[in-house]
Amino acid sequence: MDRNIFEDEHEMFRDAARSFYKNEVMPQGERWREQGIVDREAYLQAGEQGMLLMWADEQYGGAGVQDFRYEQILIEEMARYGEPGFFMTLHSRLVGPYIGELGTDEQKQRWLPKCISGEHILAVAITEAGAGSDVSGIRTKAEDKGDHYLLNGSKTFISNGILADLVIVVARTDTSRHGLSLFVVERGMDGFERGDNLKKMGLKSQDTAEMFFNDVKVPKENLLGEWNRGFYQLMHFLAEERLIGACQYLANAEAAFEVTLEYTQERKAFGQAIADFQNTRFKFADMRTQMDMAQAFIDRCVMDHNDGELSAEDAAKAKLFCSELEGRVTDECLQLHGGNGFMDEYPISRMYANARISRIYAGSSEIMREIIARSLGLDPRKKSKSV
Ligand SMILES: Cc1cc2nc3c(=O)[nH]c(=O)nc-3n(C[C@H](O)[C@H](O)[C@H](O)COP(=O)(O)OP(=O)(O)OC[C@H]3O[C@@H](n4cnc5c(N)ncnc54)[C@H](O)[C@@H]3O)c2cc1C
Repeated sequence: MDRNIFEDEHEMFRDAARSFYKNEVMPQGERWREQGIVDREAYLQAGEQGMLLMWADEQYGGAGVQDFRYEQILIEEMARYGEPGFFMTLHSRLVGPYIGELGTDEQKQRWLPKCISGEHILAVAITEAGAGSDVSGIRTKAEDKGDHYLLNGSKTFISNGILADLVIVVARTDTSRHGLSLFVVERGMDGFERGDNLKKMGLKSQDTAEMFFNDVKVPKENLLGEWNRGFYQLMHFLAEERLIGACQYLANAEAAFEVTLEYTQERKAFGQAIADFQNTRFKFADMRTQMDMAQAFIDRCVMDHNDGELSAEDAAKAKLFCSELEGRVTDECLQLHGGNGFMDEYPISRMYANARISRIYAGSSEIMREIIARSLGLDPRKKSKSV
């Protein structure tokens, strides 16, 4: 189905993004996967092209572009021609806005220009060994010591964990369930250490690491947003985070579909192309139908988001459906590749492995179902309170 949300300037930007990924990112993929991390230079190159934190004000070096469709285009082209370890969107749209929206003028002046140029790489550290889906389990704590905050604890599974220069750390600042605050911890601060780059089943070129904070003296001017309001601040960014995920997972499914369409037309068995078996044609028909339906929903969510009207439950539906769809499509596509699909040299094998995390991070499928069910008034917590 034709998409109708893009104007000519979006299509021009798509061409520029595509050639950037094809020329600068794609050729590095194999090496990055082997080394388990992308080169820092990739961020500098993206910065030069004006592709990082495009939403940021011109006074900080940004383009002042609030239109989410540009980020959607970057995400879509990345899925086809990029390398998932180069997590530009995490830097630009998942973490950058914490500084852009919560930062003081002084903080924005201090941090944004280097994030926009790619000199500084961003990460957000929420998850701990004992706290993933349930952030109320966060134990990393920060104490107000008068002229600084003292940070102690550890985080795990942090994307860009090795590369990051600025890490937004969520820490407990009060014993109440939601008593959390956000701090910007900078590379080189005493007591801030990272673990090894964690070995994973997929996303091999993406660095994921543990972080340790031992008596880190965080300057007062590195508190981001209001003291003890961290939980609500995190919630504020979740709808966009889930929409970003949904765009990405659907684009990954599209990329898997495309490589498989090509493969099955070339590969032969029993004297005919694999694509000519009725089973194959019906699988493609099913996948195409589901992806078109999903795309229509996502594009509507993108436009709602541009208008400031994307609801938490629609974002959750988008994330839930697209991550599950990516899982189904990459699985069907691998099956249609036969044994070759299990070989690392065939992109579908990596797409299949990479897809497995989409249903878990950025809010698992189960948490998305909780949010959607609550929006239907199905909330057992409220029932038990009224009894
Ligand atoms: C590659 C990778 C990158 C990541 N990047 C980051 C990052 O940059 N920053 C960061 O802070 N974190 C990051 N994470 C962590 C990620 O966000 C968490 O793994 C995720 O939130 C799930 O938490 P958990 O692993 O503790 O699982 P758990 O919370 O222990 O969940 C285990 C299972 O129980 C289910 N479950 C939990 N609660 C409920 C419920 N109420 N109802 C029904 N089922 C439930 C879950 O859905 C899941 O199936 C990353 C993880 C990975 C693997």
